[in-house]
Amino acid sequence: MTNIPFNVPPIQGRELEYLKEVLNSKKLCGDGPFTKRCHLWLEQKLKTQRALLTHSCTAALEMSAMLANLEPGDEVIMPSYTFVSTANAVALRGAIPVFVDVRPDTVNIDENLIEAAITRKTRAIFVVHYAGVACEMDRILEIAKKHNLLVLEDAAQGLLSTYKGRALGTIGQLGSLSFHETKNVVAGEGGALLINDPALVERAEIIREKGTDRSRFLRGQIDKYTWVDLGSSYLPSELNAAVLLAQLEDSESITASRLKVWNDYHTGLKDLEAGENLRRPTIPANCTHNGHMYYVLTKSLEVRTELIEFLKSRGVSSVFHYIPLHSAPAGRKFARAHGTLRHTDEISERLVRLPMWSGLDAAAESRVLESVHDFYRSRS
Ligand SMILES: *Cc1c(COP(=O)(O)O)cnc(C)c1O
Repeated sequence: MTNIPFNVPPIQGRELEYLKEVLNSKKLCGDGPFTKRCHLWLEQKLKTQRALLTHSCTAALEMSAMLANLEPGDEVIMPSYTFVSTANAVALRGAIPVFVDVRPDTVNIDENLIEAAITRKTRAIFVVHYAGVACEMDRILEIAKKHNLLVLEDAAQGLLSTYKGRALGTIGQLGSLSFHETKNVVAGEGGALLINDPALVERAEIIREKGTDRSRFLRGQIDKYTWVDLGSSYLPSELNAAVLLAQLEDSESITASRLKVWNDYHTGLKDLEAGENLRRPTIPANCTHNGHMYYVLTKSLEVRTELIEFLKSRGVSSVFHYIPLHSAPAGRKFARAHGTLRHTDEISERLVRLPMWSGLDAAAESRVLESVHDFYRSRS
């Protein structure tokens, strides 16, 4: 019995051709032709003012926090049920992540809890589109407008997902994408910052180029470049951009393949939800998603632990995440929770992710579905 891995990166074939082109060009550093083609692809496909490749989504999130001018003591509202990078970006500025609970249906930040967490120190709302399914952006934008806050999107999981027809990452002032090996479209390590507010474009270029105006220099707008602001090195090499371009060009078919698996899982597990054994994901009516993740919610931590073990014995890899940030050691030190985070705590104990990758075939799908059914049959 071969093992069904949890994730397999979707190598398309053209990556090697593009990599050879870069190597033969003898220009390996960042912002060459492949990076530019990725920028153009993202700008046209997602409809954003400016896209800038970064070496990770973490880097794009850090750039967002810098562009938001966060200062020590400022507060940023976000979910606790997220990857560490969302909170780190804020804490690295000396600002304080303020966690509010998630919705039990989408596992996204509960928009109805945001306003009560706003103080004189609040500067931004950092939303995370969990599993590539959008947060309730209309309500969040309305709250942000009323209180003069920025909306920053962690769209690490959201490439090609939409909210009311708009691409995730293009709705707030700034959006961050990830092309890490575990995401839908990969560069090994990689990310992008989407700059939706034209007023932030020039400074974003400067921050990404070590605090220099090198981008203006390269465009011939100035005759020498110099240190003009804070910054770091956030750009990827052309090698990463070459791999990424091959992936972006095939991103529609990669997404379609994942969605097929997602839909088959969803249909195949309907009976177990009806029998109140587990809960399936919820996709709100105004959202399209990208099949980034298929998860189920078990009844308890004990059942989840047993299910993961059972699947493992059948050669099916499944994983759980996240340890809520508010209860993590650094979360207690650098952040605070607003209110009780009941759903966050509960979901973090009950959520389990099934194998999901582009190209997961019908035989593997069946084995996953049969194994989950066998597990619940063995318990009844
Ligand atoms: C993957 C992920 C990140 C980090 O992405 P990297 O590209 O690995 O830095 C950040 N936030 C969320 C929600 C993620 O899923």
